[in-house]
Amino acid sequence: FKTRRAPELANSVIRKKLQGYVGFANLPNQVHRKSVKKGFHFTTMVVGESGLGKSTLVNTLFNTTLYPAKNDTVELSPEVPKTVEIQAITADIEENGVKLRLTVVDTPGFGDFVNNEERKHRGLNQIENPDMPCLDPVGNPYSITSRPASMPILNRRTVSTVTRWSITASTHASTLSSRRVTRKSMPLSILWFEVTILASYAHLKPLDIEFMRRLHTRVNLIPVIAKSDTLTEEEIRVFKERILADIAHHNIHIYQAPQYEYDDSETISENREIMAKIPFAIVGSDKEVEAEGGRRVRGRKYPWGVIEVDNEEHCDFHCLIDFPYHSPLSTHMEELKEYTNDVLYENYRTEKLMAMGIQQDPSVFKEVNPLQKMEEERQLHETKLAKMESEMKMVFQAKVQEKEAKLKQSEEELYARHKEMKEALEKQRLELEEKKRRIESGRPITPEKKQKKGFSFNK
Ligand code: GDP
Repeated sequence: FKTRRAPELANSVIRKKLQGYVGFANLPNQVHRKSVKKGFHFTTMVVGESGLGKSTLVNTLFNTTLYPAKNDTVELSPEVPKTVEIQAITADIEENGVKLRLTVVDTPGFGDFVNNEERKHRGLNQIENPDMPCLDPVGNPYSITSRPASMPILNRRTVSTVTRWSITASTHASTLSSRRVTRKSMPLSILWFEVTILASYAHLKPLDIEFMRRLHTRVNLIPVIAKSDTLTEEEIRVFKERILADIAHHNIHIYQAPQYEYDDSETISENREIMAKIPFAIVGSDKEVEAEGGRRVRGRKYPWGVIEVDNEEHCDFHCLIDFPYHSPLSTHMEELKEYTNDVLYENYRTEKLMAMGIQQDPSVFKEVNPLQKMEEERQLHETKLAKMESEMKMVFQAKVQEKEAKLKQSEEELYARHKEMKEALEKQRLELEEKKRRIESGRPITPEKKQKKGFSFNK
């Protein structure tokens, strides 16, 4: 356990010796059992131009066929993709009884639009804006469709279910219901990458730099040199230097192996050795070929020999996965997630809160206080509710005004009809009176009536 204690509290800790068995020595076993039972979640994203070998790398990394083999002729087609379509694949894989829900996010088409400024910006914004669906569901511009597919079972890792997500930006507000489906059915961190592997072929292009600059505060970035089997040792050395210089020049933070007080000198030096190899020169292949001495190895066969993926003398792939204790994906997977939660997510949340006008004391974020976190989340929620309430009020007022106007109009119409009817009745009454008068004029006229009508009796 990593404990964060205030110094004054640390000083007042009293050391006591136990007189009997309490049971907390079993805590690591409990955590272990619980973790194995629950399984783990891990999200990774691969970024780079198409054809760089991203899908092959993912298949090689997780020793499964997450991505089906692509047809090279299709790949070489000059047709530019319409958009940077972000595709996510979620797979349940199992190794020695430990379950891992793996989400791999791919960005086919990234970098294939460098000559189109508008498309480039749209693409970058799409990739850069992996808003946490849990934090900003209403502002989330992604609409997601899923189509489950079954996957074959391979080697020591088994893939039980695979779900493909296709995430494309929609300019119009997609329906709330589809977002709700998204939030309910997707793992929390679907667009929140614990690891982003940026594959570069030769050197960092402005687009790569722009992408890294935008995302380094959000994710653990691991730059790799793709298809390193096509480069000479000297070229790899030069490219590594060039990429690191670019990264330093642009103040981009890339993945760093964690260091603990309890790490022994051997671990520290092995970590250093691995870190010194970043950006890792990678060779990807999910196929087995026959190597020297009839060995079956994962690799690529050339007329001059075989390049072995898992051979550390051939490439740095082992730094990513197979190096038993110190690679980012074997030992440090949990650290990557911790760093994402404690640092990257906290920074993101601070940015969001500040944008909403909620001021924070930056020192607070060094120590994550769960109560404070809850309070901030509550405030955030209330701000959202207040915004929704005021919007609803406005809608309500507009509706009331509309209703009032309609009522007034129908009242006026009613009054006009009433007036019309009244006039018609009055006309009718006058006509009847006239008729009555005419009828009466046929009767003998009483002296009184005669007088009224001006008759003269002297006639
Ligand atoms: P993506 O478009 O980036 O996902 O690229 P793919 O993984 O589909 O790979 C494109 C082509 O490059 C395929 O023909 C792969 O066999 C080949 N490829 C993948 N990785 C390597 C590698 O490390 N070295 C070489 N020489 N070719 C590779």
